[in-house]
Amino acid sequence: MARPNHFRDVIRIGPVRVGSRSDVRGRQKHTAACTAPRCGFSADYDSRAAAELAARTHTCTTN
Ligand SMILES: [Zn+2]
Repeated sequence: MARPNHFRDVIRIGPVRVGSRSDVRGRQKHTAACTAPRCGFSADYDSRAAAELAARTHTCTTN
């Protein structure tokens, strides 16, 4: 079974998780996703630094 969403190097910055994976073209993609209920923030970035910066600067609007 293929696992296209298998993230590597997952870290947690506050409520946001950052992980890296290869996309269908074999390029690295970096995703920041908030784990807080009802937040729903999730975005892909071309660089790990950008994803980690987004995670650090993310502010939940749910509380
Ligand atoms: Zn959030």
